[in-house]
Amino acid sequence: MNPQIPHVDVVVIGTGPAGLQAAIHAARRKVSVLVLGRQSGSSIYHHHVENYCCLFPTTGEDILANGRRQAAHFGAVFRDEEVLSIAADDGRFRLRLEGGGEVVAKAIVLATGTARRSLGVEGEKRLLGRGVSYCVECDCNFFRGAEVAVVGGGSAAVHGALAMLDYARKVHLVFETLETAPALAEELRRSAVVQHPGRRVTAILGEEAVEAIQLDDGARLSVQGVFIELGARGVLELAAPLGVLLDDEMKHIQTNRRMETNVPGIYAAGDITGPPWQVAKAVGEGCVAGLEAAAYARRLAAPEGA
Ligand SMILES: Cc1cc2nc3c(=O)[nH]c(=O)nc-3n(C[C@H](O)[C@H](O)[C@H](O)COP(=O)(O)OP(=O)(O)OC[C@H]3O[C@@H](n4cnc5c(N)ncnc54)[C@H](O)[C@@H]3O)c2cc1C
Repeated sequence: MNPQIPHVDVVVIGTGPAGLQAAIHAARRKVSVLVLGRQSGSSIYHHHVENYCCLFPTTGEDILANGRRQAAHFGAVFRDEEVLSIAADDGRFRLRLEGGGEVVAKAIVLATGTARRSLGVEGEKRLLGRGVSYCVECDCNFFRGAEVAVVGGGSAAVHGALAMLDYARKVHLVFETLETAPALAEELRRSAVVQHPGRRVTAILGEEAVEAIQLDDGARLSVQGVFIELGARGVLELAAPLGVLLDDEMKHIQTNRRMETNVPGIYAAGDITGPPWQVAKAVGEGCVAGLEAAAYARRLAAPEGA
């Protein structure tokens, strides 16, 4: 281990709700905590939140600003830098940062969230929040009695389409190929969801709000809502090279109830561990991960037999 490189007990990667809560709980256990990442990269940063307990109404920006102040109050140090890679190093972890620096940690909390893939079609950005959504769980209630489309063929999209049946008058599922477990595919087949297999969305249409979607075969579906559920493209490049176990779809990190991964010293919390993608879940997992990571770092620091 190079003594020139700064050493900390716990590095939290990600400054979203999961990372902030992990930092708060770890820092209160009197270990050194470094939090890496840009707050503006959190998927809640630009959004209103109306289903997070005890804060109603609130915004993502407020939650994040408060969380950062709180974590800093308890001693966590923030660096607005991204992590490029992590390597195991003599029982510790060496992180390479985008600014060229390095840092060594005893324990790591991975809280990098997931990037929801966009369709990249006309109307998608313009109508975001006006009928276009990336989160069924968050926005389902706004589409009571409406006709909606869910786009995507993975488990997230199928789950989303089935869940929307409780809210919407009619639910379409548009996908190129169905990539989901057989039991879920069967549930879909038996449901009232109208399937459009082998189809792509080429445009989202509407002036002030979504009015329709255009498919690649020329069909036009009159809908008031479009949920883009193309699955998560997590920042798993950091985890996989360390041998961290991912789920079957290679999208999320597997943890136990203590938020431990299969690699001792590596914990994960929030969207990166899979759905539901919600602030409340991220915060709960962050709490557990922060406590466990701090305990791990303290065990490493303790003399043999202590
Ligand atoms: C449109 C939309 C609306 C939503 N509305 C709601 C809602 O109303 N209620 C609700 O509960 N949830 C909502 N969500 C979901 C919510 O945003 C997420 O569940 C929550 O933000 C997850 O927290 P997280 O900490 O796991 O990840 P994030 O908040 O996404 O944070 C990830 C962090 O990791 C950082 N990061 C990523 N890669 C690296 C790297 N290599 N190095 C360093 N840092 C990195 C990012 O910059 C960011 O700081 C919504 C999501 C979207 C997209």
